[in-house]
Amino acid sequence: MKENKNLLLHICCAPDASIPVPDLLAEGWNVKGFFYGSNIHPFEEYKKRLEALKILINHTGIDCEILEYNPDEWLEKIRGLEDEPEGGRRCEKCFELQLEAGACCAKKSGLKIENFCTTLTISPHKNVNLINYLGEKISNLYNITWLNKIWRKNNGFLRSIRASKELGLYRQNYCGCIFSKRDL
Ligand code: SF4
Repeated sequence: MKENKNLLLHICCAPDASIPVPDLLAEGWNVKGFFYGSNIHPFEEYKKRLEALKILINHTGIDCEILEYNPDEWLEKIRGLEDEPEGGRRCEKCFELQLEAGACCAKKSGLKIENFCTTLTISPHKNVNLINYLGEKISNLYNITWLNKIWRKNNGFLRSIRASKELGLYRQNYCGCIFSKRDL
């Protein structure tokens, strides 16, 4: 067992968190969630995803920090990368922004959070090595420990579909930003 059991979990969306949250709780972690959300377009879609997240929070009993919705700021930060294909440099920047915001929140919250992880690696569409590389890099900058998980292992993604269905969670059909919706 680890001495420092507090863990901040970056939650990209409720369906993707439906396996990581209970699994981490079962491992004995004291899980605090973190939701960025400003990459999501349009606002109606953001609201649907936030509602799903609230269902998951209520179901699992975890505490979760929800950042202010600020899509203009997100758009400003990925400026110049609008025409990148999904999985390209825009997504790398987006992962970085989300994880950096999480690490920053862990430090600012005043809570004793020593460990950090993300739900992003449950997706079969995402570059899990890149995500874990970025997570480790950012965690080092903030002097916290990165938990290197690949949630899609052991049928993680399929299990998340089933768990989301059981909880009645809204499941989106695009990653989140205006460009991923455009490229459907
Ligand atoms: S496709 Fe997804 S990961 Fe890539 S920039 Fe858009 S919201 Fe972010």
